Amino acid sequence: IEKQRKSLNEIIEILLPLMEADANLQGHRLHFTKEDNLPEVYIDEKEIRQLILNLARNGLEAMQKPGLLSIKTACTPSAISLSIADQGDGIPESVQRQIGTPFITTKSNGTGLGLSVCYAIAQRHNARLEYETSANGTIFTFEMPR
Ligand code: ADP
Ligand code: MG
Repeated sequence: IEKQRKSLNEIIEILLPLMEADANLQGHRLHFTKEDNLPEVYIDEKEIRQLILNLARNGLEAMQKPGLLSIKTACTPSAISLSIADQGDGIPESVQRQIGTPFITTKSNGTGLGLSVCYAIAQRHNARLEYETSANGTIFTFEMPR
């Protein structure tokens, strides 16, 4: 793990074309709402890229109908955050009970590793990874203390 000061906006912008291609292939749209005054954070860029891609892929795969994946950065006096919201059917309760446990998947071709990797990455960054989920969609928020 190799941490440097870096802007989450920059990392998202690097990944946008890739995530947009992913979205379009699945018939979805993607939108990035950028906080322009986002302070830099101390992170391992490779790990944060992995976290964003894992969450974005899950969000895209969760939408059965054409939908919108919204990526957003934000900051408050105490924290800097990145959120990824989808319009899917929500996280099944059976998965929620064991969220973050490796090899839990509801996909025929899933590995069940994406989220467990995300939680490990969050831990290595002293960050929180939280979600809100309902029948209308799910939002994952990665939040780092300032
Ligand atoms: P995989 O994507 O290979 O199944 P993950 O660890 O990334 O493994 O996700 C585990 C499970 O969590 C998924 O199979 C799915 O059931 C559920 N899940 C994750 N993200 C979402 C989401 N955004 N909406 C609904 N369910 C989700
Ligand atoms: Mg996944």
